[in-house]
Amino acid sequence: MESLKQLLFSLVEVGSPSGFEEPMMRRLVEELKPLCDEVYDTPRGNVVGVQRGTDPEAPGIALAAHTDQVGFVVFNVDERGFIWFRRVGGAVTRSIMGHQVRLLTDKGPIIGVVGIKPGHITKPEEASKVPPVEEMYIDIGADSREEAYRRGVEIGTPIVWNTGPVELGNNYIATAAADDRVGLAAIITIARNLSDKPIPATVYYVGTVEEEIGLRGAEVAVHDLDVDMAVAIDTCSAGYQPDVNMRDLYYEVGKGPAIHIGELGSRTRLGSQVLRRWLVGVAETNGIPYQTGLMYGGTDASAMQQTKAGVAACSIGVPRRYSHSPVEVFSLDDLHNLTEIMIRAIEGLTREFSAHRI
Ligand SMILES: [Zn+2]
Repeated sequence: MESLKQLLFSLVEVGSPSGFEEPMMRRLVEELKPLCDEVYDTPRGNVVGVQRGTDPEAPGIALAAHTDQVGFVVFNVDERGFIWFRRVGGAVTRSIMGHQVRLLTDKGPIIGVVGIKPGHITKPEEASKVPPVEEMYIDIGADSREEAYRRGVEIGTPIVWNTGPVELGNNYIATAAADDRVGLAAIITIARNLSDKPIPATVYYVGTVEEEIGLRGAEVAVHDLDVDMAVAIDTCSAGYQPDVNMRDLYYEVGKGPAIHIGELGSRTRLGSQVLRRWLVGVAETNGIPYQTGLMYGGTDASAMQQTKAGVAACSIGVPRRYSHSPVEVFSLDDLHNLTEIMIRAIEGLTREFSAHRI
């Protein structure tokens, strides 16, 4: 558990908003290299690590986690050196002002803060409103546009929250980008665990780009892999916080990973119930806590199941509160239990397994 925490903490320090995933791509290649028979990245940005199985007739399985995170990008710099920005992905607008950010320039990281109007001169009608992102600005302590440029800021510089991870009670962690460093920590842990075992099935560990802006990397990630099935490993929104109606969000932090039936939202998707029942069965047999139900939003499973002639896909997630904020809260136990389910499932994946529905 301690090594899982260390891994997670080091992964959340890597800044890689959608479209600017190179730091996390490099890190994932580095992690998977000693564990896989082959590791490569694609020009599109996906990273693939292959652990070849002992039985070519056993099904091939892809485990996907996304290498991007919600963040921001420099849109413009004004003559006073204030930086105007836009969102990349769906950062919660209410959790941006008054926070520290890190600008990932080619000359190295620059710390800034998102400015906010002094309380003393805020009009009553403004006090309870959040301005649109277009009206927010970052202060890096530069006196002019030229100084900001000289320090490495450019239009297009990616930005992330500058929030370090903290440990709360009960093995809960609060951090920016738990989504989806949790998934990356899971696939690395699974790869470490399976690397020295004779596993029948070939396992593809896939880091996908641009999940947060529309599952873009996953749309092409398994296209030329010899896979019969795919599992997306991600976070999912949890209920049981005072401002969320538990009727609508019943997944609970600390009660086990969520093995999803499907995803609700702008585009409803139902996953492979064959895979879901398989993972639920593994959890039951081994006495590993889990939850199952329908999640809100989309995961890479949505895109992967529509590739080739259709790939059996499902998603499994670590429930977290405060989605897409700098303080996403999840349980390390849920993450650990997720890796346990996947490790045991893959160990038992033999040529007898069929992903067919009838
Ligand atoms: Zn995610």
